[in-house]
Amino acid sequence: MNSQDQPLIFELSKEGRVGHSLPDLDIPCESLEALLPEEFIREQAAELPEVSELQIMRHYTALSTRNHGVDSGFYPLGSCTMKYNPKINENVARYEGLAYVHPYQAEDQVQGSLELLYDLQTSLAEITGMDEVTLQPAAGAHGEWTGLMMIRAFHEANGDTERTKVIVPDSAHGTNPASATVAGFESITVRTNGEGLVDLDHLREVVGPDTAALMLTNPNTLGLFETYIEEMAAIIHDAGGKLYYDGANSNAILGIARPGDMGFDVVHLNLHKTFTGPHGGGGPGSGPVGVKKELIPFLPKPVLVKEQNTYRFEYDRPKSIGRVKPYYGNYGINVRAYTYIRTMGPEGLRKVSEYAVLNANYMMRRLEPHFDLPYTQHCKHEFVISGRRQKKLGVRTLDMAKRLLDFGYHPPTIYFPLNVEECMMFEPTETESKETLDEFVDAMIQIAREAEESPEVVQEAPHHTVISRLDETTAARKPILRYQKA
Ligand SMILES: *Cc1c(COP(=O)(O)O)cnc(C)c1O
Repeated sequence: MNSQDQPLIFELSKEGRVGHSLPDLDIPCESLEALLPEEFIREQAAELPEVSELQIMRHYTALSTRNHGVDSGFYPLGSCTMKYNPKINENVARYEGLAYVHPYQAEDQVQGSLELLYDLQTSLAEITGMDEVTLQPAAGAHGEWTGLMMIRAFHEANGDTERTKVIVPDSAHGTNPASATVAGFESITVRTNGEGLVDLDHLREVVGPDTAALMLTNPNTLGLFETYIEEMAAIIHDAGGKLYYDGANSNAILGIARPGDMGFDVVHLNLHKTFTGPHGGGGPGSGPVGVKKELIPFLPKPVLVKEQNTYRFEYDRPKSIGRVKPYYGNYGINVRAYTYIRTMGPEGLRKVSEYAVLNANYMMRRLEPHFDLPYTQHCKHEFVISGRRQKKLGVRTLDMAKRLLDFGYHPPTIYFPLNVEECMMFEPTETESKETLDEFVDAMIQIAREAEESPEVVQEAPHHTVISRLDETTAARKPILRYQKA
């Protein structure tokens, strides 16, 4: 039986069947009830399914197979870097000496754990070309906010209190303007030009004495490297602003280019993307932030420092923006990223980027004859195509994304970035084989053909999933989480 036909556990219920064996209750019920507040006492027994242990086991096992994950299939969700999470990372994160450390243990008892964090900080500083790194932020957006708060503290320390605006290109990740707002800035949009890059003339127009920073997602969400970074850096620095690099997707630049060398003052990374931390479903992330010398005094405290061969947390940092996370960041994810970096080494990391870029360009060129390609230059780790041509046939990008589910694939990111009509954003990552890429492209080509020959097949997709189309807004806002009898 496939999981689609698996009956719900309530429907398997048989009166009197039990999945447990407990000794008889030898305390009178009344005395138990006396312990409970009145409002918690049921008038009738709960209607629970009466099933055996084996039935409940099969129920949960079947449910667990209804999720799509990197370990179950191709997952080319753009801007998310759903690459393989090597299992050696999991083994290392479970080492007893690392997994059972308590954050309140004295520093002299946990020198090994601190050394690991220190080495990770130092490696990330080297990878990004920055002077110091904090591992406190728990996610990419948290790193953005942390970085902006440091920029704010820096301007304030200089008596520069009129810098209230953060410039964000329309091809930036959606969290950038949100983080700027939460950090107390006004976010100003700068346009993208016909090449898909920041429009420098528009940038010159919006920059001024009120500019606190420019936040640049690079490669941008169109998958393009911002060719004119040095010009942008000059424009912003000449105006007294700081340059922020959103490096959540660093899969295209590892070992090739460093934000620090390009003139950036602050950068964040997503260890749960580029550095193989498992993600999706809101699990623990890690969004370290690197800064240049001028901003070091503002780093979140405590700061992990090394003296001779001893590691300790330094709390006496009067200019620090304070703590941004209880304890010392999401330690387990940091251990996984450390394992990955040590496994790959510098040459390995460079290869990661070379293959990520090669895979994306290979897929893009194979799709090019069948879909509209709004930006035709080579891409970096991801690319966008437009479903304009199929829309004219009555098939929307949403329909094509749903149809991909029938082939067992996770769809690309859709309708983002906003500046491309009927947008689909693909990020294949370096960990997929050519065969997988080819099979996926073949499925996309078949869908393009269906849009021409039998559009209803795409419009009514998915046909082979447990649930077909649902009202996604209502499902998110008003979820029905309890079994309801048909
Ligand atoms: C994912 C992503 C973020 C946000 O990271 P979270 O960990 O989800 O907060 C920011 N910028 C870019 C470019 C991203 O891809």
